[in-house]
Amino acid sequence: MTTSLSFDVHSPATGALVGSYPSHDESAVEAAVDRAHGAATWWRTVGFDERARRLDRWRAEITRGRDELARIMSEEMGKPRSDAALEIVMALEHLKWAARNAKDVLGPRSVTPSLLTVNQACRVEYRPFGVVGVIGPWNYPVFTPLGSISFALAAGNTVVFKPSEYTPGVGVWLAEAFARAVPEQPVLQVITGGGETGAALCRSRVGKIGFTGSTETGKRVMAACAQRLTPVLMECGGKDALIVDADADLAAAADAALWGGMANAGQTCLGVERVYVHTDVYDKFLTELLDQARDLRAGTGTAKIGPITMPKQLAVIHRHIEDAIARGGRALLGGPEAIDGQFVQPTILVDVPHDAAAVVEETFGPTLVVTRVASMDEAIERVNDSEYGLGATVFARRDGDAIADRIESGATSINAFVAHATIPALPLGGVGASGFGRVHGPDGLREFTYAKATTRQRFSSPLALTTFTRSAGIDTVVDRLVSVLHGRIG
Ligand code: NDP
Repeated sequence: MTTSLSFDVHSPATGALVGSYPSHDESAVEAAVDRAHGAATWWRTVGFDERARRLDRWRAEITRGRDELARIMSEEMGKPRSDAALEIVMALEHLKWAARNAKDVLGPRSVTPSLLTVNQACRVEYRPFGVVGVIGPWNYPVFTPLGSISFALAAGNTVVFKPSEYTPGVGVWLAEAFARAVPEQPVLQVITGGGETGAALCRSRVGKIGFTGSTETGKRVMAACAQRLTPVLMECGGKDALIVDADADLAAAADAALWGGMANAGQTCLGVERVYVHTDVYDKFLTELLDQARDLRAGTGTAKIGPITMPKQLAVIHRHIEDAIARGGRALLGGPEAIDGQFVQPTILVDVPHDAAAVVEETFGPTLVVTRVASMDEAIERVNDSEYGLGATVFARRDGDAIADRIESGATSINAFVAHATIPALPLGGVGASGFGRVHGPDGLREFTYAKATTRQRFSSPLALTTFTRSAGIDTVVDRLVSVLHGRIG
């Protein structure tokens, strides 16, 4: 590949140099996309069964190398090794599901025609676009891009992947493992670089872009893709909430809020940033939450919370905490002084106004805003009063399903945090500013295909409609039929 420059990757925890990668420019990106087109026919025509075998081999490669992959993840973006290992397990589950189910979901199936078209034999199948470009974030550098890559590959596309400039080594490792499973053709390639490299991929001849990242970057990606009318999958940011009803298991709810808000240093699209608690159990819940948070620390070594990966995010987290407190909020844990270098200690805020930045904007740090609500109606209203709609969590014994049904988000997990994202058969995605389109499950497979309809006339219809030889008699029969078929309602 031709490249102009290179860039360095530093550990956010220690500042140490952990790698140097080429910044692929426009011509390098186009060359990769050309190669991907060259491999696309082969990959499509090997068929579902052979693709599944190859994807299983890739899964085995990742499994065998998972310690090394977890180390690279941890070095590049700072998450604890055990969290990195867990992320890999989740990604493997989805990869397996995509390989096993692509044929059933996407393969040809017959469709029943209508009464007027009974002489037709119809079928539909879902065909790959050819080449799919995947642009991924750094916060879950394996799980998130593989949500697109695994499903795009299983559907028969070749893929050009642009990982975040914070985690290029993870992307390169995944592509090298893939090349061991599929050595014949460049079916999965990685291009490295910053935003410009991603923008070049959007402008290139890809059949679709699968984007995961912030809502603001998503808008730029859409604008670039509009030039060629390239379709896009948008997996963007969130401001997810957790609801605690009066009859909830408070220890479990506090555990979920803490993990959901603080794990990965709060840098989770589906992370809990807001908690709405029924007034009857508010004080008890807070006591439980603070009790569980007591020993939770951000740091290196055995600390369960790593550093903030992007230096510029520290200013956002600081602004949200300062603003919340300036507007009457209180920090029951942490606060502005919780920010120390690249690390942010767990911060729990209460009494924060509903329009404060910490309640409205994505914070992407280990912070929780806990709010008392008079009823579940109020909780639902507050949860839905957000431009985002990615996921949500409900803790309730009696009314969990009823509450979940009223939440406007791509998914809701009841009595468990983020379970929906870990179940391979369930779709994952958002509404509103959280994006559109789905990864995972049957919807995630179809996302990387277009529907191809085919119909064959089995015999001439006595009611030939689409011909200039259509008689007045046929028009009369159709007119009567239409009354019978459509006019007897109500
Ligand atoms: P960014 O939006 O900053 O970046 C996402 C990717 O887009 C990166 O690879 C980035 O490259 C690239 N990029 C930047 N500018 C452009 C451009 N003009 N054209 C094309 N590509 C570009 O997001 P982050 O990496 O900071 O990820 C965090 C965000 O991702 C959060 O908002 C989070 O909520 C969201 N997210 C959503 C998920 C979901 O499933 N909905 C899952 C995970 C994260 P580079 O890094 O090199 O600048």
